[in-house]
Amino acid sequence: MIPDNEKLSNPQVTIAAIKKYGFSFQKKFGQNFLIDDHVINKIIKAADITKDDIVVEIGPGMGTLTQYLAESAGQVIAVEIDTKLLPILAETLAPYDNVTVINNDILKCDIEELVNEVKEKKGFDYKAVKVVANLPYYITTPIIMGLFEKHVPAESITVMVQKEVADRMNAAPGGKDYGALSLAVQYYSETYIAANVPPNCFIPRPGVGSAVIRLTKHDKAPVEVKDEALMFRLIHASFEQRRKTLKNGISNAGLPGITKEAVGEALISMGLDENIRGERLSLAEFAQLADILYDACE
Ligand code: SAM
Repeated sequence: MIPDNEKLSNPQVTIAAIKKYGFSFQKKFGQNFLIDDHVINKIIKAADITKDDIVVEIGPGMGTLTQYLAESAGQVIAVEIDTKLLPILAETLAPYDNVTVINNDILKCDIEELVNEVKEKKGFDYKAVKVVANLPYYITTPIIMGLFEKHVPAESITVMVQKEVADRMNAAPGGKDYGALSLAVQYYSETYIAANVPPNCFIPRPGVGSAVIRLTKHDKAPVEVKDEALMFRLIHASFEQRRKTLKNGISNAGLPGITKEAVGEALISMGLDENIRGERLSLAEFAQLADILYDACE
């Protein structure tokens, strides 16, 4: 255990480490490091970490959040792309024997394989895998959708993201934030915004507000649909041109066999206005629409 005032969450400790290693921040890697222990404690609490968990951290940076994760979790796997941070991490994480640092691009990692390696090497029989991160904002969506679509065996994903993105993930039908991202994230998980975080909690300060969001994976998808890929194609097509009616948006996307008339008829059969916009449809209604069009195309 490192005393709290000697952890990197103390801004003076972070500044001293930056100076010692002559580290310069790389904008291209989305490097905004946390310097606020209240925020870090909120992340740890929202992630509900126990000593039976393996935590996968995306982008440990200098190891600020990692120091807290190491004290709460059984094992931590921290994947960092920036090689220049490795000597710093070697020093800041030296007191912990339960952290494995991997120097790689998270988008190229097989997380399941990393988890199995740690399980075997450390002889650690975990109860759950949890992903926790202060994400590099430039690749938020590919990281989160990759975790869902590749069926990474993580029970939950608790991440700091741009506030606007957290609001989109959490949005209900009808509002301005509701769109393809809301539907995709909510198909895979239950969303909960745990905290809003202002720019002064980071060094350097980001130009946008941030929020911590927890995505708890559903055991079973909340809707059943015959062709999941078709449902997502319809969702993307209807939000591509937000101002268009759903019928026009989908027919403009040129999906084979799906005409404007077929979409209009399907909407009427669902008891909806045929000129409705996509932003008014719930996930269950998109699933129902996909099933009707799937049957019509067969
Ligand atoms: N966790 C640290 C903290 O909270 O202070 C740093 C968070 S910073 C917002 C994002 C981190 O992700 C940086 O350390 C950056 O180098 C790293 N990163 C950026 N792109 C990455 C990628 N594709 N794979 C792994 N790490 C990445």
